Amino acid sequence: MSTLERVDCVVIGAGVIGLAVARALVLAGREVIVVEAAHAIGTETSSRNSEVIHAGIYYPAGSLKARFCVAGRRALYRYCQERRIPHRACGKLIIATGPAQLIELERLLAQATRNGVDDLQWLDAGQVYAIEPAIRCIKALRSPSTGIIDSHALMLALQGDAERAGALFAFLSPVTGGERREEGIVLDVGGSDPIRLLATRVINCAGLHAARVAGSLRGFPAEHVPAYYFAKGNYFILSGRAPFNSLIYPVPEQAGLGVHITLDLAGQTRFGPDVEWVDRIDYRVDPRRADGFYAAVRRYWPDLQDGALQPGYAGIRPKLQGPGQPVVDFMIQGPAEHGVRGLVNLFGIESPGLTSCLAIADYVVGVLGAPASPPAL
Ligand SMILES: Cc1cc2nc3c(=O)[nH]c(=O)nc-3n(C[C@H](O)[C@H](O)[C@H](O)COP(=O)(O)OP(=O)(O)OC[C@H]3O[C@@H](n4cnc5c(N)ncnc54)[C@H](O)[C@@H]3O)c2cc1C
Repeated sequence: MSTLERVDCVVIGAGVIGLAVARALVLAGREVIVVEAAHAIGTETSSRNSEVIHAGIYYPAGSLKARFCVAGRRALYRYCQERRIPHRACGKLIIATGPAQLIELERLLAQATRNGVDDLQWLDAGQVYAIEPAIRCIKALRSPSTGIIDSHALMLALQGDAERAGALFAFLSPVTGGERREEGIVLDVGGSDPIRLLATRVINCAGLHAARVAGSLRGFPAEHVPAYYFAKGNYFILSGRAPFNSLIYPVPEQAGLGVHITLDLAGQTRFGPDVEWVDRIDYRVDPRRADGFYAAVRRYWPDLQDGALQPGYAGIRPKLQGPGQPVVDFMIQGPAEHGVRGLVNLFGIESPGLTSCLAIADYVVGVLGAPASPPAL
C-alpha cells in the first residue's frame, strides 16, 4: 500500500484548461500539483483544434460559453502580448451563400450584440470580393476581433508561469480512482511509481475523461456525473498556396460551426472540423471523408481543385448532448452543485474552451474560495 501524501490543490489534466487553472491557483497563493496521464502537456484536445480565438458570437446570452469566451478572448489577447505568444487578429467572415442564410446572419448579429460583441460589420458581395476575391457569397458579417493563436506556445507559457510560481507537474501519472473523506479527497495516482494524494482541493480538468474521473471517486454522487458524447472533428489540409487573408466560416450547422477555412501562423490552410459522432477516441482521419469536404467548401470556394485536400488531423469534442439534442453549456460543478467539499469538475469543455481558458481559470479560483495570499508573479 503506497503512503498518503497531503497536498493543498491537485489539478487533474495538463491540457490548456488544467494549465490555466494551475497557473491561476498558484498565483493566488495555493500549493498546486498537476497530475497528467500523458508524457507531456496538451496531447489531447488542446492540440487538436482550430486554434481560433473566438469573439463570442454564437453562444446563448448569459451562458458560460458566452461569458467566458468574451472575457477570455480579451484576457487572452492581453496575455499573448505580455508573453509574446504568436497570434494574429486576422478577423473572420461569416458568409451567406444564398438568401435563406441572411436570416441566420441577422440572428447571429443580434446574438453577438447581446453577448457584448459589438464590432461586427456587414459586408456586401463587392466588399467581400475586395478582401477575399476567391470567395462567393451574397453577404457576410466580418468579425475583426477573431484571431488565431499558437496553442502550444500558449500552453508552454501557462506551464512556465505555473512552474515559476511553484506548481509541480507529474507526467505519466493517471488518476485511476479515489474517494471522498471527511478530511479531503483521496486520489489514487497510477504510473510507474503509484502514489495516493490526500488533497484539500481537486480540480478535474481531464477533458474527454472528466466524467469517468468523477465517476471513479467513491462517495461522489452518481447523479452528478453527466452523460458524455464524443463528436469528432476531422480536418483536411490544403496542399499548395491558398488565396485567403481571413478565416472563412459558413453559417453554423448542428453541433458545430460548419466546415470552415482556418489559417495557422505557419501559413497553412486547413478545412474543418466536420462532425462525426463516435463512441471511442480514435484520431485517425478517414481519407474517404474528403468528398464531404469538397462539397462543403465548394459552396463558397468554387475554385477548390480536385486532389487539393489531404487528410490532416482530428480532435474530439466532449459533448454533454447527443446527436440532434439541444446544445448544452459548459458545466462547471463546485461544492454548491454536488456537495463534495473542495472538488470542482469541468465537464463538456469543448469550443470555445481554448479562447476561454484564462476566464475559466479565474472562475475556478472563485469557486474554490478567496485566495490564500495576494497574487504575485
Ligand atoms: C475539433 C475541435 C476544434 C476546436 N476549436 C477550437 C477553437 O478554434 N477555439 C477554441 O477556443 N476552442 C476550440 N476547441 C475547444 C478546445 O480545444 C477545448 O475546449 C480545450 O482544448 C479543452 O482543454 P482541456 O484542458 O479541457 O482538455 P484536454 O486538452 O483534452 O486536456 C485534458 C488532459 O487531461 C488528461 N487526463 C485525462 N484523464 C486523466 C486522468 N485520469 N489522470 C490524469 N490526467 C488525465 C489528458 O491526458 C489531457 O492532457 C475545439 C475543440 C475541438 C475538439
